[in-house]
Amino acid sequence: MATILNGKKLKEKILTELKKKLDGCEKKPSLAVILVGDNPASQIYVNNKRKTAEIIGIKSNVIKYPKTVTEDELLNKIHELNKDENTNAILVQLPLPEHISKENVINIIDPRKDVDGFTPYNFGKLFSGEKPYVYPCTPKGILLLLEEYNINLEGKHVVIVGRSNIVGKPMLQMMLNQNATVTICHSYTKNLSEITKTADVLISAVGENIIEEKMLKTGCVVVDVGIFKDSTGRTRGDVDFENVSKIASYISPVPGGVGPMTIASLMLNTIELFEKQNTKTPL
Ligand code: NAP
Repeated sequence: MATILNGKKLKEKILTELKKKLDGCEKKPSLAVILVGDNPASQIYVNNKRKTAEIIGIKSNVIKYPKTVTEDELLNKIHELNKDENTNAILVQLPLPEHISKENVINIIDPRKDVDGFTPYNFGKLFSGEKPYVYPCTPKGILLLLEEYNINLEGKHVVIVGRSNIVGKPMLQMMLNQNATVTICHSYTKNLSEITKTADVLISAVGENIIEEKMLKTGCVVVDVGIFKDSTGRTRGDVDFENVSKIASYISPVPGGVGPMTIASLMLNTIELFEKQNTKTPL
């Protein structure tokens, strides 16, 4: 049976350390979260982020807009937050309504306040092999989780399924930084299981339950990023946990694996931005 990559436990450990650190600080970091519309999943995510921030001593400011908000209104708000000395980190909860360009909104966030590491400046730095101001939260959380279990990535074949800007693409570069050999797959990939069979580490970020035991080799490390509700309303990941856990060496559960690590990374990034701004660390 596989060892569980327990993201929930590691998140608690990280948050305890962060709370201790912030308890000793007179000035507290602050995180602004922009939430547009009434998508129930987004509301839950934002609420979790706000609650976690407050527990450890990060000030959080959730700015809500109806789904009819214009792009200009959002851009103006971000300009305002960029200039506001009391805001250290800015997060725009995705998805945005269709009439708003996600790129236009993300692109104007000051890279020094870009807590997700999604701006072209930070993304470009990452892909040029330099250090971005902060690393994107989900891939950062995955690396922290693998490190906690002493999983060495050097020379390993890491197969990533999914090529989004949020997970797959930054994970690709961050795995290269670990000296892994990386293959990235997507919906046009032919013979997916032939590729996944060669994975030492499989990271799936699709949003559908597609990874079965027969697609993997025995002893593989499996990281399940996907999270969605199935037709019965049950929370599921991309991986057939019950059967894959019989052959994998390590596996992250859903829920309780990557999700909590994304939140922990968001808190780490908020504090990192706060510290870099205070010490005027250049971009
Ligand atoms: P996304 O933008 O939803 O894209 C999904 C990716 O999966 C795309 O690259 C798509 O390929 C690929 N794909 C779809 N069907 C496939 C198939 N049959 N075979 C191979 N690849 C396939 O991705 P995302 O935003 O990264 O989200 C993915 C999942 O992770 C979702 O369930 C999301 O909720 C979850 N997520 C969880 C966390 C967390 O903290 N736990 C964070 C972020 C995302 P194409 O590019 O060709 O369309």
